[in-house]
Amino acid sequence: EAIMVGELANRMSEKVADVVKALMQNGIMATQTQTIDADTAELIIEEFGHRVVRVSDSDVEQVIDTVDDKEEDMKPRPPVVTVMGHVDHGKTSVLDAIRNARVTAGEAGGITQHIGAYQVTTESGSVLTFLDTPGHAAFTSMRARGAQVTDIVVLVVAADDAVMPQTVEALNHAKAAGVPMIVAINKCDKPEANPDKVRTDLLQHEVIVEGLSGDVQDVEVSAITGQGLDELLEAIALQAEILELKANPDRAAQGAVIEAQLDVGRGPVATVLVEKGTLRQGDIFVVGEQWGKVRAMENDQGKRVKEAGPSVPVEVLGLNGTPEAGDVLNVVETEAQAREIAEYRQKAAKDKLAAAGAATTLDQLLAKAKADENVKELPILVKADVQGSAEAIIQAMEKIGNEEVRVRVLHSGVGAITETDIGLAEASGAPVIGFNVRANAPARNSANQKGVEIRYYSVIYDLVDDVKAAASGLLSAEV
Ligand code: GDP
Repeated sequence: EAIMVGELANRMSEKVADVVKALMQNGIMATQTQTIDADTAELIIEEFGHRVVRVSDSDVEQVIDTVDDKEEDMKPRPPVVTVMGHVDHGKTSVLDAIRNARVTAGEAGGITQHIGAYQVTTESGSVLTFLDTPGHAAFTSMRARGAQVTDIVVLVVAADDAVMPQTVEALNHAKAAGVPMIVAINKCDKPEANPDKVRTDLLQHEVIVEGLSGDVQDVEVSAITGQGLDELLEAIALQAEILELKANPDRAAQGAVIEAQLDVGRGPVATVLVEKGTLRQGDIFVVGEQWGKVRAMENDQGKRVKEAGPSVPVEVLGLNGTPEAGDVLNVVETEAQAREIAEYRQKAAKDKLAAAGAATTLDQLLAKAKADENVKELPILVKADVQGSAEAIIQAMEKIGNEEVRVRVLHSGVGAITETDIGLAEASGAPVIGFNVRANAPARNSANQKGVEIRYYSVIYDLVDDVKAAASGLLSAEV
């Protein structure tokens, strides 16, 4: 950690000439634009009678309000629902059917925006929040990052297919997270539908539906005809009532990022699901390694809102960088605090990446040493505009390769290519792939200096073709 002499003088509100003089007295010749290390800086700061402030984890915790809420301040909040299940069993169709049913029933001409989550009101008046990214990849990655936002899982099982591998995975994830489940037996419009097979299949995985004297609610639905969807919504509302979900709306807001992207016109945009407190226009916040000030918020209907309470998803504008899905947002009091925490976290992440980079190089050395196994690896780094694209690319990359060559995604993330990415790429001899994102200026300079290759793509097929070509090149070059 180093600081420029001019910057140091500036932060202490001292004259540059005085700082240069003090340095000289300590035997260091430095001009205004030269940098000195942190220890020297600390010495000088103390000589001038100032206090040294180095941010630490515990400082971060102090600034962020983690005080437990009093019972009397807790108010009921809507449940947050995630839809999971085997591929093609109708997760997307069920989510779409629920959303569409609501638009026609609600405000005529209302346009639902895709912001990664939406709210519906059931016929009996309960409000439910749905995460609009089906599948357990999103659920687990959010959980892994400490953002467990899901209160209820809807497990979609197709009645013409019954329990499949990803059904089992999904129910295991729900169990591991301790989240209650409701089974939506889908595609009941099909003549070959056999809902009872779904029920008995589930028994083997210790999911016992009410009809078989268990306590898991099950509803027969069809995303195509709309059959049973209202019943499903009421089942969710009932489950939510049992859970007695509550949050304190009158405190500094905390939320989780559901989706984030770099929007050409609007800058970084994040969909945040408020967990507690109320997020308001003008609030200053930290979110993962980024910070910002809420410039504007839009709800799932594309309407401007001035505030958002617990379980409400909103699109937030006014970020200084693009956070990642699963990052936690906390409102803080001052811009200085927000910036300090974000910078501290960026540095911590950089240190961690550097360590990971070193480990990767070791891995590769080991891989090379095991030449008899004959597996060659093509490492790459992926940065994409949205989490969904990043995940799709990782999946596509994992499919390339054979017994001799493998593509390995060292790191993936959302947002512009940064110097940190270039650093890791250099350490591992990997190219950096930008999918609908560019490298910022410092990253471009650093890539030029270090000879790291950056490639831009906007079509996954093009990327797959090029990586395939590179993989076979790797084969022929070294055989
Ligand atoms: P996902 O992969 O779980 O998100 O599944 P999709 O929602 O993409 O659905 C997979 C296929 O099943 C699509 O062709 C849908 O049209 C079809 N599908 C989904 N729900 C139903 C349903 O209730 N009835 C029938 N007949 N087809 C459905």
